[in-house]
Amino acid sequence: MKLSENKIIYMCLGVVLIGIISLSFYSFEPENRKIKDLKEGDFVRITGHIQSMKLERDEYRHIKSIKYIKIMDDTGGDLRIYPSKKVMDSLVEYIKNYSPSIKEGDVVQVIGIIQVYNGIYIIHLDDISNFKLIEKKNFERDIYLSPTPTGIYASKNGKTYHTIKDCIYGKKIAEDNRIYFYSEEDAEELNYKKCKYCASKK
Ligand SMILES: [Zn+2]
Repeated sequence: MKLSENKIIYMCLGVVLIGIISLSFYSFEPENRKIKDLKEGDFVRITGHIQSMKLERDEYRHIKSIKYIKIMDDTGGDLRIYPSKKVMDSLVEYIKNYSPSIKEGDVVQVIGIIQVYNGIYIIHLDDISNFKLIEKKNFERDIYLSPTPTGIYASKNGKTYHTIKDCIYGKKIAEDNRIYFYSEEDAEELNYKKCKYCASKK
């Protein structure tokens, strides 16, 4: 039997069409799965705790955007959730609206199609309803810089904080380059060291 070019084209289109139809049925309902059993292309619902978050913050340490959220389940497997541009603002809002905000240790659920990149499982999130908090576990408060001047300050570009207004080193920092902390504990927790001059005066 000799196939004409047209027949071949129609057969190809038919195969593609069947593929699309079966794929849309296939991805209708996500399957609850463990991370270590995942394969590329699986459409799944994963529950795990946040192991780390790659965030971009502004000068007051408020979250500006999220590069990815890494979650881990009880099988020890991990997976990264990459938000699309479309979902970024609503995801940042969702993360910040809890008090304290959603962070490492909290249990979350994500729905999506598994992709594998360099051996890492990835879900691209482009619908906010596919990400939700299941249980708040981490109640540590957020450390923010004070938006208004306090007596505890540092240079944006340094790692030393001052507590005396007229400190011989501190007073050289231009107003535009200053950041302010609510407390010395906050400064220490953000890895700032107390100025030796300020320390010696108290
Ligand atoms: Zn000082």
